[in-house]
Amino acid sequence: MNPVDIKSGTFEQIRQAVAESGLSDEAVRRAYLWAHADGRTSWKGLEGKLPRRIDEIRRTFSLPSLSIADERVSGVDGTLNLLLRLPDQRTIESVLIPHWGNATLCVSSQAGCAMACRFCETASIGLQRQLGTWEIVDQLYRAQERSGRRITDVVFMGMGEPFHNYERVLAAADIFHERRAAGISARRITISTVGLVPQIHRFIDERRPYRLAFSLTSAIPEKRRALMPITDRFPLAELADAIRRYASSLGTRRWVTIQYVAIENRNLDWEDVQAIGELLGEVPYIVDVVPFNPIAAAPELEPPTTESLHAFTKKLRILNRPIKVRHSGGKDMGSGCGQLAARWG
Ligand code: SF4
Repeated sequence: MNPVDIKSGTFEQIRQAVAESGLSDEAVRRAYLWAHADGRTSWKGLEGKLPRRIDEIRRTFSLPSLSIADERVSGVDGTLNLLLRLPDQRTIESVLIPHWGNATLCVSSQAGCAMACRFCETASIGLQRQLGTWEIVDQLYRAQERSGRRITDVVFMGMGEPFHNYERVLAAADIFHERRAAGISARRITISTVGLVPQIHRFIDERRPYRLAFSLTSAIPEKRRALMPITDRFPLAELADAIRRYASSLGTRRWVTIQYVAIENRNLDWEDVQAIGELLGEVPYIVDVVPFNPIAAAPELEPPTTESLHAFTKKLRILNRPIKVRHSGGKDMGSGCGQLAARWG
């Protein structure tokens, strides 16, 4: 039997995968906790605890890990940005943002991205490849190891479009949620999508417990198309239908997060606000305004001035919905939203 990658499944999935191996459930449990709850990168040290089982564990499981190629810490807000090396030597980034005693980890789901959003540096490298489940999961263990903090929230908002790597992203979310692994509440795991409509419907059909956030950035078709080419494949009306369906699947429990990258002279006018209202109608949503962070790949785009951001949020009030302005952790060191390209000089 080929070794089973212990970081690619929930405890139950791993237990079943090795059911024929003869390894006791207790040994599987101890190995699983070693790999996940403790986030270890090797079996070294476990032999003292399971001397009679360690050889079998080594034969039965592989324990792959990412290596930390570099790291930066923001002097402004304590954000930790990790540059992580994959086994094929490609690199990805994860960002750990501390806030009010909690710690949110922004994970990558792909090396690069195929979605070509104009305001995002990741787009400039194109899609290199999908990340495997363990390559997503291990970002959390490496961030915990480097920061010494317990991660309370995970957002799939790093490099890549999570729904373009649907199965592995959902498998990783299940492991983040697994109580023998990171044990993060499902409501604290958020998957952000630019609007891959079939996958949104699939997520709803599968009754996944995690939260979705929708990156809108403009509700005016031609403006959105210029900033987010995915609009050609899935027009705004189809995306709005999917958002409406997602909102009704939540019942009265929650609001839907609509992310809006605010860009100077692009999408901050009255017509932009009106278009959001018309597109989403009665949907209960929160507008999560993300001030654009400058990137080398799009010199024509500018971040909003303090005045225009203030004026925009004032206009948004007409929608009668909660408004948040996102603090983009680590933007002082080029690790803010939209700035990740895993190219560190
Ligand atoms: S914003 Fe997200 S989906 Fe768009 S190019 Fe960047 S990583 Fe990809």
